[in-house]
Amino acid sequence: KLLLEVKDLTAVIAETKQEILKGVSLSICEGEVHAIMGKNGSGKSTFSKVLVGHPDYDVTGGSVVFKGENLLEMEPEERSLAGLFMSFQSPVEIPGVSNADFLNMAYNARRKKLNQPELGPIEFWAHVYPKLNELKMKEDFLNRNVNEGFSGGERKRNEILQLAVLGADLAILDEIDSGLDVDALRDVARAVNGLLTPKNSVLMITHYQRLLDFIKPTYIHVMENGKIVKTGDISIAKALEKEGYKAISDR
Ligand code: ADP
Ligand code: MG
Ligand code: MG
Repeated sequence: KLLLEVKDLTAVIAETKQEILKGVSLSICEGEVHAIMGKNGSGKSTFSKVLVGHPDYDVTGGSVVFKGENLLEMEPEERSLAGLFMSFQSPVEIPGVSNADFLNMAYNARRKKLNQPELGPIEFWAHVYPKLNELKMKEDFLNRNVNEGFSGGERKRNEILQLAVLGADLAILDEIDSGLDVDALRDVARAVNGLLTPKNSVLMITHYQRLLDFIKPTYIHVMENGKIVKTGDISIAKALEKEGYKAISDR
């Protein structure tokens, strides 16, 4: 069953009107894992930010249907309540809001949307605790302010904790592998794999084949100059690697 259908999506930088997305088309069905690879500057992060409604960009054409609804007409918050999750390449700090409060609020907002009763602090803790363990995160993590003073690796783990706690129909993971050592990557990948069901989908963005060893994609897309120029299975990543993926990963 189709979850996300993007057709000929074009978008510009709101401030300068410079076109970054030049006709992106992509379909994701329930239960699929898609990866977007491509050179630095090809528009991967812009694509994911446009999907979640980032204000830096204006959509100028094309369509995006998510779970049968016009995603482009929804506010960013509505998109997340509808089951779209995004981990940002550079997650933001939220001063004065603890991780626990943030997660609790966000989780209950989503439950409300799904017509489920809100969880009290004790039930919520019981929901979060196993996920903390799985990501090898200490409890005091929850008392710290969101992303404040987190190391790069802690931020990544925290993003995946958010995903694990909140749940999502489609999780967009932008370079979750960047800045992670192999052990941390393994923890994060295990958590992501643990969230995959026949209903949920993941769109992951990466420069590197390495991530694909840990999270197996159903399809791989190559983005170049604001367009998907190639779609296929894992053999694409293998070919990119063999032909010197370094040459196109120039960050
Ligand atoms: P990728 O994630 O593939 O590395 P990006 O989507 O981050 O690529 O960027 C695509 C291009 O658009 C780059 O040339 C980048 O500099 C430019 N760009 C994206 N967002 C902005 C912005 N807010 N302001 C100016 N330039 C931007
Ligand atoms: Mg980049
Ligand atoms: Mg990027």
